[in-house]
Amino acid sequence: MKYTRILLKLSGEALMGNQQYGIDAERLMQYAEEIKAAAATGTQVAVVIGGGNIFRGVQAEAFGLDRVQGDYMGMLATVINSMALQSALEKLNVNTRLLSGVTIQRVCEPYIRRRALRHLEKGRVVIFGAGIGSPYFTTDSAASLRAIEIEADVVLKGTRVDGIYTADPEKDPTAVRYPEITFEEVMEKNLNVMDMTAFTLCKENNLPIIVFDMNKGGNLQRLIAGETVGTLVKM
Ligand code: UDP
Repeated sequence: MKYTRILLKLSGEALMGNQQYGIDAERLMQYAEEIKAAAATGTQVAVVIGGGNIFRGVQAEAFGLDRVQGDYMGMLATVINSMALQSALEKLNVNTRLLSGVTIQRVCEPYIRRRALRHLEKGRVVIFGAGIGSPYFTTDSAASLRAIEIEADVVLKGTRVDGIYTADPEKDPTAVRYPEITFEEVMEKNLNVMDMTAFTLCKENNLPIIVFDMNKGGNLQRLIAGETVGTLVKM
């Protein structure tokens, strides 16, 4: 296997499937199967899942709510998604632990780096919930930060597009996919890979990112085996 330890980032929105809101049962099980197959290769797997299918802090204003309150609502939304994913993985007999950036004592463990490392060494799939536990951040930032902390080899950003394109492929039919690109080029060309905070964390810590299509079965396993899938962002 190419990687000893990976951090997989899934967006909350991806969990909606074709729905407008919430969790699509079929999509959830599909992701759990992919993660199970990835973990079965012996690569250590950590997962960060977003909350955009339930609530995002930026929506707070539209609801007449306070932004910080909205961000905490978003963080709790990621915990709901993480719990769903944990349960789906357990249905498939995968050992998991959910570690949260916001303490929710009865539901999951608090995030403690050493504990996360120990779980990973024991072959458990570790899910990081509640982002980094602070408002004004995103789960992409949480993915970058946790990946650096646990010394993951790579951040695998599972999306519904199969990589980074010269333009938005859903809007521009002439858009071409990059198989590989440098951090510098992404910044020069102003390409949208992750938010700047998340991206800078990866860049400054020389942590490669791979953007790939998570909805295509087997992609995650292919990546772990070292095949070229999606777009690699590196130094
Ligand atoms: N959030 C936060 N701090 C974090 C992670 C998340 O405040 O460390 C909040 C933020 O409001 C965000 C929401 O949780 O909008 C859901 O996460 P995100 O938007 O990253 O989810 P995704 O877009 O991946 O579904």
